[in-house]
Amino acid sequence: MPSFPVLVLNSGSSSIKFSVYETGGEERTRLLEGEAEGIGTDQGKFHINDANGAKHIEQAQPLPTLATAFALVADALKSGKFPVPQAIGHRMVAGGPTVVENQRITPALIDEMERYTAFAPLHTPIAIFIMRESLRLFPGLPNFVCLDTWFHRTLPATARELPIPQEYSEIGVRRYGAHGISYESIVYQLQPNVPEKLVVAHLGNGCSISAIRNGVCIDTSMGLTPTGGLISGTRTGDIDPGVLLFILRKIAKTTQNASEAADKLETAVAKQAGLLGVSGVSNDMRDLRAAIAQDNVRARLAVDQFVYTIRKWIGAYVAVLDGLDMLVFTGGIGVYSSETRAEICSGLEALGIVLDSERNQTSKYDQARGAAIISAVNSPAIVRVIPPAEDLMIVNHVLRLLAN
Ligand code: ADP
Repeated sequence: MPSFPVLVLNSGSSSIKFSVYETGGEERTRLLEGEAEGIGTDQGKFHINDANGAKHIEQAQPLPTLATAFALVADALKSGKFPVPQAIGHRMVAGGPTVVENQRITPALIDEMERYTAFAPLHTPIAIFIMRESLRLFPGLPNFVCLDTWFHRTLPATARELPIPQEYSEIGVRRYGAHGISYESIVYQLQPNVPEKLVVAHLGNGCSISAIRNGVCIDTSMGLTPTGGLISGTRTGDIDPGVLLFILRKIAKTTQNASEAADKLETAVAKQAGLLGVSGVSNDMRDLRAAIAQDNVRARLAVDQFVYTIRKWIGAYVAVLDGLDMLVFTGGIGVYSSETRAEICSGLEALGIVLDSERNQTSKYDQARGAAIISAVNSPAIVRVIPPAEDLMIVNHVLRLLAN
């Protein structure tokens, strides 16, 4: 089978992450991973490593714009030093009510998704820009969009619809969820033994949790946008709508128009809130743990609230699933912060969750050992740590769509 390199593009607010997979038949081998980071600054960095971590490119240079950063990525991948991609998969948080399926990207599709930028305002403008640049700089290559919302397309109406006037539901205001490619990858990694009643907590910079029955998502914590649900690094999560109105009215006194006021409110609830807002220290769990070690009470409160909210949500999803077979932690905090996992699981015996504290401590993820089980042998529910494999899922979607 001839090799067929697939490029995966996953852009964030200040970085473009990418990987190249060698594919053919059942083969999926990651050849390269790279990142252009520090976009919008003169402290940019660019690297490409191979799958063994060996550095092929490592350079520091100003990356004033997203365009300069993506041109750097495209030039490197077209230089002939690496396998030239034959197809490209783009991670997209939300495509809006009309773009639900993963599919081949056309200029018209990009225009359609752009109409719903408000559904993932921190992510969509960047992803849209990269898609347009990708069509331009890799002419002729098939590009595909892979949506985080795709995994949540199965939500029943009770979980999907929001308690708002119908005129808004009719224009697509509902629960879409996010982190879907991560959830999908957890179900994929659990195959062929996907438990019936599964709760997955994706705890990264953004945090969410999903209730999954027999591999099918039946509820998820993020809502119309990734700002809803759990407390995240810089986002409020679910909050009394009255709080938004109060803040909006306060902001409106010093702004010129509604759009400016909405932008300021968005900054407050999506970029300055969450762990960062409460602690006043950082949005990063490692910094917060360091501050707690120095007896910083605001950092302690932020982490306590974070843990408390997740515990409440686990309880809710055990109710939704009518029991629990397995709880999986994923995302940077879920995979690496044993302290946070212990705090979340402590006292959840009534829900069938009993951690083995030693396994939890030592479960620092190790590729060779695979996903670690951190529950006690007598725990009614199994608790596992599984890193997400989002790029692999995107590659699988690209190959499936190409085959169709
Ligand atoms: P993203 O959502 O941007 O993909 P990650 O999944 O990498 O982010 O998660 C980032 C979070 O994971 C940060 O809060 C970071 O502090 C936390 N994290 C990463 N490594 C560790 C670690 N060793 N201990 C505690 N927290 C960690």
